[in-house]
Amino acid sequence: MFARVEPLTTTRRLSGPFDYKVDGLALVKGSIVRIPFGHQQLDGVVVATTDATDVPEEKLQAPTSVRDDTVPEDLVDLAHWIAEEYCSTPARALAIVTPPPGKSKTHFYAEPTGEEGKLTAKQRELLDRLPGPAGKDLAALRRLEARGLVTISERAERRTPRTNAVEDRVHDLTQPQIDALAAIDAGGSHLLHGVTGSGKTEVYLRAAEACLQRGEGVIVLVPEIALTPQTVARFQARFGDTVALLHSALSEGERYDEWRRLRTNEARIAVGPRSAVFAPVENLGLIVLDEEHDASYKQDGDPRYDARHVAAYRAYQSGARLVAGSATPRPETVHAMHRLRLPSRVETKKPLVFQDDPAPPGVHVGGVTPRTTLTPRRADGLPPVRILDMRESQHSLHPETRRAILGTRKSIVLLNRRGWSNFLSCKTCGKAWECPRCDVALVLHRAQHEIACHHCGHKERVPKRCDACGSLAVARHGAGTERVEHELRGMLDVPIFRLDADTTQTKDAVPELLARFHQAPTGLLLGTQMVAKGHDFPDVTLGVVLDADSTLRFPDFRAEERTFALIAQLAGRAGRGPKGGRVLVQTRSPDAPAIVAAANHDSDGFLKEELARRKAHEYPPFADLIRVITSATDPEPARVAAAAIAEQIKVPETQLLGPAPLFRLRDRDRFQLVLKTHERSAAIHATGRAVEDAARTKAFKEVNFSVDVDPV
Ligand SMILES: [Zn+2]
Ligand SMILES: [Zn+2]
Repeated sequence: MFARVEPLTTTRRLSGPFDYKVDGLALVKGSIVRIPFGHQQLDGVVVATTDATDVPEEKLQAPTSVRDDTVPEDLVDLAHWIAEEYCSTPARALAIVTPPPGKSKTHFYAEPTGEEGKLTAKQRELLDRLPGPAGKDLAALRRLEARGLVTISERAERRTPRTNAVEDRVHDLTQPQIDALAAIDAGGSHLLHGVTGSGKTEVYLRAAEACLQRGEGVIVLVPEIALTPQTVARFQARFGDTVALLHSALSEGERYDEWRRLRTNEARIAVGPRSAVFAPVENLGLIVLDEEHDASYKQDGDPRYDARHVAAYRAYQSGARLVAGSATPRPETVHAMHRLRLPSRVETKKPLVFQDDPAPPGVHVGGVTPRTTLTPRRADGLPPVRILDMRESQHSLHPETRRAILGTRKSIVLLNRRGWSNFLSCKTCGKAWECPRCDVALVLHRAQHEIACHHCGHKERVPKRCDACGSLAVARHGAGTERVEHELRGMLDVPIFRLDADTTQTKDAVPELLARFHQAPTGLLLGTQMVAKGHDFPDVTLGVVLDADSTLRFPDFRAEERTFALIAQLAGRAGRGPKGGRVLVQTRSPDAPAIVAAANHDSDGFLKEELARRKAHEYPPFADLIRVITSATDPEPARVAAAAIAEQIKVPETQLLGPAPLFRLRDRDRFQLVLKTHERSAAIHATGRAVEDAARTKAFKEVNFSVDVDPV
């Protein structure tokens, strides 16, 4: 027998697999081996075993070692599918399904045998504390073991991830939840489209419970653990240790133990962000995709997989059910999946009007009196949303926003731009401060006395004068979260919690900040899109979106979808408690359809229009997009390589756009080629081949290639 081994290297130039001798080793498909390869030793994965090989006997070598852990066979197959589907390589795809490094931690455990013997006082004391871990007494216990008085065994010790515990509250199901559950149980893929607070998590929990009873395993995917701790906590509260957590903030030992518990079937539910779609769960019965609209499901580096697409394939491969849940589902998902509706919030049994909170004590701001308004509550329990036109405004806050913030005990304010000002320019000569390595403006971060590039991390001191003309008049344009925080501090006495990439650089910063806001009796949570994620603060009665059209200005066919989702998700954070709430949306595009639809909580209307627009322009889901980017330190080779790839791709029903220049990034000039196709697999195949050929062309040695199928 021979083993076909794929060496785990990142280069596109090497194409395996390669045959090796088995040599008495216990090799199966999925074994992880160390192999001699040329002059080096590499890790590899056995992708098949075979009875015949073309390699002459004298050239065959054997692996030097085998790991105890193996990759499940279905994940080896899944990796091959990913390599094809995302124009990557089998080696890169296999690398993401292999177990995390590490091994089990064990300790020695001592038990008395019941035999009697002559003991010193110290030995008596030792024996009396057993059974228990041997600890530092191991040597003394070994002597008692030799006399037959105790037995010592090695036991595995679980390194348990830290989580925040919640109490398990089992909710009675509403009729829409009962109907949804029945449909999910019957099999297939479903979109669970429910407004925030409509009880989607309870449906996931019940569907998972049914799987466990049938002996099936479950994978639950969430956007980011730190921002959506509730879903994880509720699964753990309901199912205890049968839940394994997989995410990057775990220690190496914890990650290994959680993986191992799944691999041995000790744990049957895997919960984690996108990479948990590769959890080694056997006899898979259900995959849950929570907040399916979230962009974090797309992987940034090669292979640029989309966990939603991989989940759909894995469900198909294993016959599992798939449930994608969201209050703001993507048009693609609405188009592709059967839709189950949860139309209203579950805990809405409240009066039809609400009052603003009276101003917290101690808040007096000159000229502005907090006022109390009566607003009709919507039948579905969602907060009313008001659009505030900012076209005439010189300030970052509308007077109505100021009044509302002053009159509210707890509010959330979203501004999807961090820093102080988004660019600086010289009032005399017009020079704009740009990153020397990327063609983008530098953002002012006042607290750090820096201007910084948000793409590559380049930083400079804040300029005191223009280095082109010497002028002292440097203008600061636009406002980010840092500046708005400063303004709010000037008008409010309540604590302000700022949540953005600048304030949350340490591992535990996000959960700690969210917990402090949760516990505070009054406060304002200000931040980027991070504040609109899945957390649930029942006492927040006001949500504010500043510069809501900032996402609309991106030249991207998803701009409308993103804008709608951001506003609707933020609205979902407000008014979840008995006091109700309301939402204000500041914008310079008060008539933009995405903004108007979000203000009306009209996801059906939005989706209908958006799907029609996509159909007219042949965007997904009515065509597939593939993006190829070439980059090099000189523009010419990058451009020529992109042109060579474009030249080679000949697929029917496929439009080629470009190559077009992209802005320079990290000192590299970039060119982009986009395929818009109705022949998905042929186009993927042709692109993969063309890129592989270009990567092997000597003239393009300095060019980097990146392929993104279904870019987001
Ligand atoms: Zn100047
Ligand atoms: Zn830069």
